[in-house]
Amino acid sequence: MGVVIVGAGQAGFQTAVSLRSEGYDDSIILIGEEPGLPYQRPPLSKGFLAGKQEIESTALRPEGFYTSHRIDVIASERVTGIDRIGLQVELASGKRIPYDKVVLATGARVRKLPLQNHLLYLRDLCDAVEIKDRLDRCDSVRVIGGGFIGLEVAAAACSLGKAVTVVETQSRLMQRCVAPVVSEFYRELHAGHGVKVMLGETAIASRAADLSVAGIGVVPNVELASHAGLATANGIAVDEFLRTTDPAIFAIGDCAEYPNVFADARVRLESVQNAVDQAKCAAANIVGRSRPYRAVPWFWTDQFDAKLQMAGLSSGSDRTVLRGDLETRKFSVFYFKQHGLIGVDSINRPADHLAARRLLATAARITSDQAADEGFDLKSLV
Ligand code: FAD
Repeated sequence: MGVVIVGAGQAGFQTAVSLRSEGYDDSIILIGEEPGLPYQRPPLSKGFLAGKQEIESTALRPEGFYTSHRIDVIASERVTGIDRIGLQVELASGKRIPYDKVVLATGARVRKLPLQNHLLYLRDLCDAVEIKDRLDRCDSVRVIGGGFIGLEVAAAACSLGKAVTVVETQSRLMQRCVAPVVSEFYRELHAGHGVKVMLGETAIASRAADLSVAGIGVVPNVELASHAGLATANGIAVDEFLRTTDPAIFAIGDCAEYPNVFADARVRLESVQNAVDQAKCAAANIVGRSRPYRAVPWFWTDQFDAKLQMAGLSSGSDRTVLRGDLETRKFSVFYFKQHGLIGVDSINRPADHLAARRLLATAARITSDQAADEGFDLKSLV
């Protein structure tokens, strides 16, 4: 017996690594339906598409690492069921694997637009290789969706000299996650590089460009959990220890909906930080540490020469404060709700981002004046 991890993405990989560093000595089996070893997704829409990074460099660890850490990786194999009475997972090949604990790290899949078969989507390594191949042979690209992935694809395509159009139904870019000032900064950034940004427009089925890529969000992979009788909502439902409604089964990463202490609500996050920190927490709980998940959420996106780093969860804020100067392209936006700080977005200001994570983790009190005053040392509050 031992731990069976379903999904060999960022969260599944980290669970295996953290179990070993926590001293777990039994068998660890990491099962993924994608071919090959676990890899990082962020470079797929950044360095790899822009031709600055080889696809091989996205691997999280070389093969020898798994052997030396006694992690059995089963690739190209789908888990089709969980027998919770017999304590076995069932594979598409018909094989059954016994378990003491299961970690569901099944991630998410792209949301697709109906009736538009010519669209490409970017979620995995195969998608990235196909888009890159098509990109190298085309002159114009249409990107549907002005969220993080769409804008990163647009920036990469533009840097390769393609004529790029971004079509977004909302009235501003990245509307779900950032303040209007940040959306406008990114609209100008893209427009300044020659990207045609169309806001408030619905993409119609058209072959106006050589290549059309859609980035319109993802859907969590909850079906395995729901078929096994586990509770699901906007993700596989877990408690603060990341346990599903079956205490022998954990769920983490993009597929899991958990009670978030900062939002005071149940949320499902899609980020490397969330996948990694939840994996560490689940591993600690599997070895009996009883650790609630309380990590500060953070995220980043790279587009052209701008690095946006986000700390906390800013939705529901009632006030924003700007620190720094938009003209210098180095500024942060502090989001407040009532009198408390709930999030900070930093553009090309990594020190603000690191300080923000500490401020949020310690629930430090910061006033609007202190946030706006560049002479005020944020670290003095933590
Ligand atoms: P995933 O990485 O999706 O892994 C889940 C794995 O489980 C998949 O390989 C899937 O095939 C497998 N699986 C599912 N069901 C089964 C089954 N039944 N049996 C076997 N295997 C199964 N985040 C950031 O913080 N910053 C970024 O800059 C950033 N950039 C990104 C760029 C791209 C192009 C993409 C796609 C994502 C990006 N993200 C970024 C998001 C981040 O990569 C994800 O949040 C993270 O990968 C989630 O990890 P996960 O392990 O939960 O899920």
